[in-house]
Amino acid sequence: SHFWGNVEMGPPDVILGITEAYKKDNDPKKVNLGVGAYRDDQGKPFILPSVRKAENIIHEKGLNHEYAPIGGEASYTSAVAELAFGECSQVIQNKTNTLSGTGALRLGLEFVTKHYAKNKEVWLSSPTWGNHPQICNTLGLPHKKYRYFDSKTNGFDIEGALEDICKIPKGSIILLHACAHNPTGVDPKPEEWKQLSQAIKARELFPFFDMAYQGFATGSVDNDAFALRQFADDGHQVMLAQSFAKNMGLYGERVGALTLLCGDQESAAKVMSQLKIMIRTMYSNPPLYGARLVTAILTNNELRKQWLADVKLMADRIISMRTQLRSGIEGAGNKQKWNHITDQIGMFCYTGLKPNQVARLTKEFHIYLTKDGRISVAGISSKNVNYVAEAIHKVTS
Ligand code: PLP
Repeated sequence: SHFWGNVEMGPPDVILGITEAYKKDNDPKKVNLGVGAYRDDQGKPFILPSVRKAENIIHEKGLNHEYAPIGGEASYTSAVAELAFGECSQVIQNKTNTLSGTGALRLGLEFVTKHYAKNKEVWLSSPTWGNHPQICNTLGLPHKKYRYFDSKTNGFDIEGALEDICKIPKGSIILLHACAHNPTGVDPKPEEWKQLSQAIKARELFPFFDMAYQGFATGSVDNDAFALRQFADDGHQVMLAQSFAKNMGLYGERVGALTLLCGDQESAAKVMSQLKIMIRTMYSNPPLYGARLVTAILTNNELRKQWLADVKLMADRIISMRTQLRSGIEGAGNKQKWNHITDQIGMFCYTGLKPNQVARLTKEFHIYLTKDGRISVAGISSKNVNYVAEAIHKVTS
């Protein structure tokens, strides 16, 4: 090619690669545990009943398709900030409607590269969601790791995390998963969050919360917002990336938000002016439809109640699959410890399976998952849970 002969082939996306391999497999027993989207007990995508009702409400309104404001509609950004920070939150916020959670992370980190005056170094949990370091790389932001997951217990390494955080250069940025940590499913307990908040304050770090799963972890949107609200109560000026992909099943609608606590009105106005400039040159203004659905649900008491029940239904199915998977493996007489399957929370479970065991699961049992042993519990159903448990038992004994 005249212009593009120099372009090198990039590596395929890990998760999408797994789905491709799964699709090509003709075995009727095949199971896809790679995918990061909720599935119902029949293995099908789930349209939340509350979202269906909101679609009808919006359809009946016969709205036009004019542009949204650059930062999105205020009715939307206020409703979603209230959902995250709680009803009586008095803090001064700066809010923008973004292209789902990824768009919020990208906008927030790009804002940091241009306007953050302290130490522009991002500290990520080890491990973290693959897109976090990739976004930093794209923006030329240096990133480092603090200890998080303890492979001996398959749980949270509180001592390691605190030790590392106490050594992070003052004024750096720390990225925190608000709940349902991806990929490990391991969340700090409330008491541990309080300790983290104090340590982060002592180092004067800037906390950036990634909240992609509010409601999905415990089934309660308030429980899942504990860490974020604790940090806000402790006086941290946090930045928050929110996504409605999972908890409303609006994956492809790309609806999210970036919210910054600014301390005073003057800074809030200045920050907003700069965010608008960045948005204007990137995508000009956000899509309308997903934000309209979210606003309809959050601002209508009856629909909101229905949605809270819908989220709980999804969370409860996942929790019940964790219980059945664990008892299936233990019931097969497996001698290893499997308590982490039920201790962990949210869509993902870090099984502790080694790469060779993962390879066997795929080759011998047609079960697809990432090499790090992460499974999406949403891919498990009452139909395949015994098969998956049996296979895990066989590759680990
Ligand atoms: N952050 C984490 C940790 C995630 O797991 C995800 C989704 O997989 C996201 C953010 C954002 O996803 P989306 O851009 O679809 O909202």
